[in-house]
Amino acid sequence: MRHHYLQTMGITRWVRRESDPVVLDDAEPEQKPPVEAQTELVTDVELTVVQTPDSHMVDELDWPELQQSVAACVACDLHATRTQTVFGSGNQQADWMIVGEAPGAEEEQQGTPFMGQSGQLLTAMIEAMGLKREQVYITNVLKCRPPENRDPDADEMMACHSFLRRQIALLQPKVILAVGRVAAQNILDSTELMKDLRGKVFKYKDSGIPVVATYHPAYLLRAPTEKRKAWQDLQMAMRIVAGEQQ
Ligand code: SF4
Repeated sequence: MRHHYLQTMGITRWVRRESDPVVLDDAEPEQKPPVEAQTELVTDVELTVVQTPDSHMVDELDWPELQQSVAACVACDLHATRTQTVFGSGNQQADWMIVGEAPGAEEEQQGTPFMGQSGQLLTAMIEAMGLKREQVYITNVLKCRPPENRDPDADEMMACHSFLRRQIALLQPKVILAVGRVAAQNILDSTELMKDLRGKVFKYKDSGIPVVATYHPAYLLRAPTEKRKAWQDLQMAMRIVAGEQQ
């Protein structure tokens, strides 16, 4: 069964080879500089304006309350162009939490993260690990779709982070798999490139929850030769969940 899904991922020779070195000199999409926070000129003083949900309030919410709060959120400009929020899907008691960047058009339409071709590859990756998609919890850093699928702005990610932080606190996963540079940098509060983030185990802020970064399925569809490295990342995350690695 696993072989079938590995084939789906285009990695028919992905047989576990313990002697394979973890190569970290992979090509990485260019890092974009952080987008300046939204500013507003008041007389001769330039103030930075970043609305965020009341994080103390968010930290008190249970799952249904949190989802309602996200659905009603107007903390950043993305609320004006969304048709609906994409909160997350899957098992709210899962060991695995998979976090991507932001919903695209198909995800927004269906209200579910990781649909379309990227979603199919992510599902194949999950099933290659011997899991079903319903057994993991999947969400994004942003709950609203950036227009034309542009990268999220820094202020949008700052505005939305308390929701993700609360999802992590409620779920208490054994591992967080951050897929793609934007998600990994946001979760790890880092500006490092994916080639420097993957292949290592980080901790999510003060929680001690392990974080593993790997490539976004959309990137793997464009660069299928990188699937082998993604599989190495997934294997490392599997060892963490199994208690074989910290
Ligand atoms: S992206 Fe996040 S912070 Fe911005 S409006 Fe949507 S839910 Fe609120």
